[in-house]
Amino acid sequence: MREVVEPRAREAPSALVIVGQPVAQSLSPTLQNAALRHAGRAVVYTRCDVASTALGPAVDDLRRARTGGNVTMPHKEAMFTLAAHTTAAAERTRAVNTFWWDGDTLVGHNTDVDGVMATVAALCSGGVPGDVVVLGAGGAAAAVLVALALSPLTRDARVLVASRTRSRAERLVALAGGRTAALAHMTDVPWARAGLVVNATPAGMRDSDDVPVPVESLPAHTAVFDLVYRREGTTWVRDAKARGLPAEDGLRMLVEQGAAAFACWFGEPPSRDVMWHALGVPRPDAHAPRP
Ligand code: NAP
Repeated sequence: MREVVEPRAREAPSALVIVGQPVAQSLSPTLQNAALRHAGRAVVYTRCDVASTALGPAVDDLRRARTGGNVTMPHKEAMFTLAAHTTAAAERTRAVNTFWWDGDTLVGHNTDVDGVMATVAALCSGGVPGDVVVLGAGGAAAAVLVALALSPLTRDARVLVASRTRSRAERLVALAGGRTAALAHMTDVPWARAGLVVNATPAGMRDSDDVPVPVESLPAHTAVFDLVYRREGTTWVRDAKARGLPAEDGLRMLVEQGAAAFACWFGEPPSRDVMWHALGVPRPDAHAPRP
């Protein structure tokens, strides 16, 4: 029987990794190692490239070494099923992006929810003037839906999930519970009513010119949130800003989910300024509320 626990490690991890495939492009080691050094902690954060078929043995190795860390695509849902103890955020999303050990027991948590809430708060401080459209239906989209339900800025908005695999979208809509989430294929989305569009697909990650939906399809009041991140910004966010739309890529989410994970592992928040400095990107301000 899985036990639901508080998001706080009893014992700080002695080493940290990001588990995923691919992980070479992840900026988590950059920002976490800077924060660890700044906090005077003799812990190193490394990358752990693991194929789906090798996840079980890889987790056994991490257990033996008491190594905690983060999980990225495509393993978030599999780590949820492997965790014997989970937090409320992991239960709600059925996905794990942060883990540690309680003795031999794997504890799974989800700080992507914190990252999404922080970005939505910065992007939509005056509320969302219309529907929220979520593109994609994987582990990150689950965190988006949970964060949208928790945030006072979005919890009353209508949410549309658009995914190329309908069954994954249906599963997400079920997770969103009694909220007004509805299903829509990308081609069915009523863009004219969109107040916030969230890209939770990898579009733009490998091919930097790829965009999830052309910004010309979006009305002038729509806010744009791209979970994909690049130090130089994503094409989709650059296009949106060029049209005058409030837009953010996934860097703020990256820093905020990382800061929340650090606080779970070590019981104290890291320096966010140090994390942003390590990324080589100025720490962004919140966007001015729209009239
Ligand atoms: P995932 O579990 O693999 O889910 C990806 C979703 O995108 C699925 O619904 C998938 O559809 C869809 N998809 C994949 N390729 C697509 C394409 N070319 N066109 C349209 N839909 C496509 O991945 P995830 O963990 O949710 O991550 C999604 C993205 O969010 C990744 O780029 C990841 O880097 C980013 N992310 C960023 C942060 C951050 O801190 N900024 C945190 C978490 C995730 P199918 O089911 O049909 O394959």
